Amino acid sequence: MKERTLSIIKPDGVASGLIGEVIKRFEQAGLKICAMKMIHMSKSQAEGFYAVHRERPFFESLTNFMSSGPSVVMVLEAEDAIAKNRALIGATNYKEAAEGTIRREFATDIEKNVVHGSDSPEAARFEIGYFFNSLEIVGG
Ligand code: ATP
Ligand code: MG
Repeated sequence: MKERTLSIIKPDGVASGLIGEVIKRFEQAGLKICAMKMIHMSKSQAEGFYAVHRERPFFESLTNFMSSGPSVVMVLEAEDAIAKNRALIGATNYKEAAEGTIRREFATDIEKNVVHGSDSPEAARFEIGYFFNSLEIVGG
């Protein structure tokens, strides 16, 4: 089934010049970009986005990091887009991420792990709606 997911190239990925590298991998894997923009999240926007993690010990640091500089937010579409994207980005901890994944190759820290990908259809719906309205999504 055609599915949509939200991707973010996080501030470390943008600062390291990895926008093109990450997008190339998505396109080569058949993930179609149907919306994209560069944003600099405020602290409160980052807190809202990662609200599911508000009780976690890393929440404060994570939301500081996510609001520390520009990031690129994208809507990706494909058959099984959520799983395809998660497979490309790899495990949260880059040291445990599979060989060849984006995080394994480019992450420098468990927090600074270059990319975000929605982890379920419910999360994807919330996350896409958090950054985009339907007029901003091609084919939407
Ligand atoms: P994301 O939601 O960003 O795609 P994920 O689903 O692999 O990543 P989550 O458990 O949702 O991982 O954690 C969200 C983000 O919080 C991680 O990507 C990472 O940046 C940060 N994070 C997760 N666990 C830790 C930790 N133990 N210490 C520091 N930061 C962490
Ligand atoms: Mg997550």
